[in-house]
Amino acid sequence: MTSSAVQQISTVTQNLWVQLLDQLQLISQQYPDAVFANSLAAEDMVIEHAIRQQNLAITSFMLDTGRLPKETLALAKRVEQQYQSAITVLHPDTEAVVAHVAEHGAYAFYDSLSLRQACCQLRKVQPLQRYLQGKSAWITGQRREQSQTRTQLQAHEHDMQFGLEKFNPLCDWHTDNVWEVIRALDIPYNPLHDQGYPSIGCEPCTRAIRPGEDLRAGRWWWEQRHSVECGLHAAPLSQSSTTQELS
Ligand code: SF4
Repeated sequence: MTSSAVQQISTVTQNLWVQLLDQLQLISQQYPDAVFANSLAAEDMVIEHAIRQQNLAITSFMLDTGRLPKETLALAKRVEQQYQSAITVLHPDTEAVVAHVAEHGAYAFYDSLSLRQACCQLRKVQPLQRYLQGKSAWITGQRREQSQTRTQLQAHEHDMQFGLEKFNPLCDWHTDNVWEVIRALDIPYNPLHDQGYPSIGCEPCTRAIRPGEDLRAGRWWWEQRHSVECGLHAAPLSQSSTTQELS
């Protein structure tokens, strides 16, 4: 961060940023095959910038479910150009998606929780499972503040669902910290964030939030709040140690 950028942000955020750089460097050293799940959300843009600023050998990947908003796809291209670094794009199994749509319809996720979860399984969880197989660690931009389903999030967990280490280096960041860094460093971000979308997923399953709603209230808004995860982060996780303990 340049000295003029530092002057624009609070001491708390400066410290969080420095900690993030250190954490990512440690992860990269200790888990050379670590990958970063970049959903193109604001948090993920902060992590992407921190990785590329340090030229770390951490591969970024995204899940193209086939239902992403055009703004998200455009941002992915911009990220690749700006950082001169390709994002690995994961796709669902085409035959399985075609069969699911033929049987249930293109908008079956509105009909029941089980059909919604089946769609997320096909388009997100299964491609992720295939990709993470054999890897030792992955990194996400999840934060505790985002929703009631994430209040127990740890900086370092063992991901029992996918069988590898999982790092959430922004777990104790607040929204203000994220946006302070984005603005100070002129990091690109999804324009939907300026239109009331703090959390952005597939286009038909995301809406803008209303004042007072939690940050993920626009995701699967027709469901009960305790169900609002896509399955990528749904499994019980056992805390093993903090990132600092890696050294
Ligand atoms: S978020 Fe919606 S469209 Fe995307 S995979 Fe899940 S149910 Fe399907």
